[in-house]
Amino acid sequence: MTDGVAPAPFAHRHLLGIQGLSPPEIGLLLDRSESYVEQNRRADKKKSVLRGRTIINLFFEASTRTRTSFELAGKRLGGDVINMSLSTSAIKKGETVMDTAMTLNAMHPDVLVVRHPESGAVKLLSEQVNCAVVNAGDGSHEHPTQALLDALTIRRRKGRLSGLRVVICGDVMHSRVARSNIHLLNIMGASVRLVAPATLLPPEVERLGVEVFHDMHAGLEGCDIVMMLRLQTERMHANFFPSVREYFHFFGLDYDKLSRANPEALIMHPGPMNRGVEIDSVVADDYGRSVIREQVEMGVAVRMACLELLTLNPAAADADARNI
Ligand code: ASP
Repeated sequence: MTDGVAPAPFAHRHLLGIQGLSPPEIGLLLDRSESYVEQNRRADKKKSVLRGRTIINLFFEASTRTRTSFELAGKRLGGDVINMSLSTSAIKKGETVMDTAMTLNAMHPDVLVVRHPESGAVKLLSEQVNCAVVNAGDGSHEHPTQALLDALTIRRRKGRLSGLRVVICGDVMHSRVARSNIHLLNIMGASVRLVAPATLLPPEVERLGVEVFHDMHAGLEGCDIVMMLRLQTERMHANFFPSVREYFHFFGLDYDKLSRANPEALIMHPGPMNRGVEIDSVVADDYGRSVIREQVEMGVAVRMACLELLTLNPAAADADARNI
């Protein structure tokens, strides 16, 4: 399924964000991902597409699902995957991010999968190395593979992305997931709403091509997809809401608020979830409507497609030949 978009080659050296990708490129990434979904459900999940290739997961910020997902993706394609454990890394000894990248680069990896707490750090690092770099989340900037796995989940359930009404609720300000999803959904022709308290909206919200609501009942009205976001307290350096209890009352997803969305609306959350804060536990576990587990499953397929396309693409081979 291509969502009405013709396939195209993936002519990018790195995957640093969704912004800047074209509809055919996103279509290609989703189509390749789709081909891995079935493979991942078989007993024998292994391919040798990345045999001989080295993937380094370089995480400067904690992660469970994203790191595991990239690790599985690399291994299922037959690559060698190394996880950099930061507690024992040179970072603790005072080495800079760039020095670490250069050191790893000298070991000839084929892909660096990087997560960093600062927006823009992954791009900076990508300019210093001569392998492909995948952004696994940089600060509150972008998390492209999360948006792709969300898109794959939606496309498989709804058959399309264009024309859908998607509402993203919660801590948009600190969320790289929200930014990547807004870009992807806009590029693919969906309409995007945001629901958040004014204090949790980013200053650039007017330029994002979204409709803004502060009332959850109004924001959810007639929506096809309800995407919830975690309150990212680790990035908050001030008080952005009075109390968790009050936050849940106004912005937590429960059946009452959900009743405003379309009866077939899907419930999504990138995880990790704070049950009883941004989402009621019963709603999160309502597997007639909640696709939260499916999102995790699609994550592996999407990361396989990204690793494959970046490793085997002509743009990468060309850069390798010129040793840049
Ligand atoms: N796991 C997602 C991220 O890394 C969402 C979250 O942490 O709330 O951005």
